[in-house]
Amino acid sequence: MQKYQTMIDGELIDSENGFEIHNPATGEVIGWAPISTSEEIERAIQSAKHAQVDWAAKSHEERKALLLKVAKVLEENAEYLAKLITIEQGKPLAGPGSMFEMQACVGWTQVAGSLDLAPEVVFEDETRRDEVHYSPLGVVAAIAPWNWPLMIAIWQISSSLRMGNTVVIKPSEYTPIGTLEMVRLMNTVLPAGVLNVISGDGAIGAQLVGHSDIDKIMFTGSTATGQRVVEASANNLAKLTLELGGNDAAIVLPDADPQKIAEDLFWGAFINMGQTCACAKRLYVHTSIHDEVVAALKALAEAMPMGNGLDDGIVLGPVQNRMQHNKVVELVEAAKSDGATIVCGGTADEGLFYPITLVTNISDDSRLVKEEQFGPVLPILKYEDLESAIASANALDVGLGASVWSGDTSAAAKVAARIEAGTVWINQHGAVHPMVPFGGSKLSGYGAEFGIAGLKAVSQAKVISTKL
Ligand code: NAD
Repeated sequence: MQKYQTMIDGELIDSENGFEIHNPATGEVIGWAPISTSEEIERAIQSAKHAQVDWAAKSHEERKALLLKVAKVLEENAEYLAKLITIEQGKPLAGPGSMFEMQACVGWTQVAGSLDLAPEVVFEDETRRDEVHYSPLGVVAAIAPWNWPLMIAIWQISSSLRMGNTVVIKPSEYTPIGTLEMVRLMNTVLPAGVLNVISGDGAIGAQLVGHSDIDKIMFTGSTATGQRVVEASANNLAKLTLELGGNDAAIVLPDADPQKIAEDLFWGAFINMGQTCACAKRLYVHTSIHDEVVAALKALAEAMPMGNGLDDGIVLGPVQNRMQHNKVVELVEAAKSDGATIVCGGTADEGLFYPITLVTNISDDSRLVKEEQFGPVLPILKYEDLESAIASANALDVGLGASVWSGDTSAAAKVAARIEAGTVWINQHGAVHPMVPFGGSKLSGYGAEFGIAGLKAVSQAKVISTKL
């Protein structure tokens, strides 16, 4: 069995303790991941702190050039890393799966290697000139989830490095090996200590984020863990970017064309088996087209091949882990006992597989609607009056994404303006882009990633004020 290794200060580390990683599609053991010791965590943080001085002293052009080299390394190793994602996380190589995830890793790194964050003149008259400059924060602790393990790691790493910070990342204990390998490969072009990776569960993450030498925490995961990270940061007052859970509403207006929107709606809800923070999780459809939308989604659900993601033609994989699978089963069973209709799916398959499940005749009070089920299930709710659909969309305490579907984009924009979420997409869902800020409202977190806003979030805004 292959033993994967952490990397600290440019060196691969032989750890004594570790755990086996299983392929969620087959149950096979695919490798062994280390559990970092407290001493290793300390070394990783100190190596990042030490390396940060030289890294910050490099010019923007030098760091951009190195990030473009990193992007090239990711591109050259895309197939190798995509295969690791598939056997570890479950998403297939094909479709919007692990090769797509690797393309995103390359794209986001290229953008970070191309963007500039110039100083801004915020005030000037005959007496004074005030400029805001953006300097590095220091050492970034990055904590990643298991759903898009490499892409989310890259989101956290690329902007941080671009602005002159160094990074210690801890991947999810469910999906560590792809990230361990990606960091090893990125270190072939980065100076030692600039990017370090440790491994283990939440206890290891807690030691990292609570450390007094951490200046910034990039956390992506559940709201409950995010709240613990906020508490931990009371010690170091690290700046926080919190990308937390969601339960996105999608509203289909009566003038939408069910056939035209069905495929985008399907992938908006079921990309990565619905294990995506900004997936459509509650679909509100006007009564007049409800049955047509349900029928179009059902036809797609039945046509999409699900299986082992290494096999040709597979576009949907298993659920990633037993905890997540249990959650899906529990919430679908709760919906059944509420009297909801299961249009398709609704019964667990072998192992960690669960079919695409559409649920109708369900109300906002159902747990399947109220809780983040984070799986391949979509409750579809009929509405008569748009005001009630908007009220339902806004009723939850999370607000990551949302979408409005219509033939009339200006009518959709009026609805979008009233929805409480970090992003409201029109005629698409979850369409993140490296130039466009992304972040949550309410209990979905705070701070933004991507584009200029993302660079500012990993920088110290420093005013230079000159008397003229
Ligand atoms: P999780 O909160 O269970 O774990 C996330 C990470 O936090 C893991 O690496 C874990 O080991 C670590 N961790 C656990 N306890 C910790 C602690 N006390 N201190 C520091 N780190 C700790 O989340 P998950 O199940 O891996 O991911 C799914 C969740 O992530 C969903 O709620 C999903 O919506 C959310 N998510 C949000 C976004 C976004 O951009 N908003 C993106 C992807 C996933």
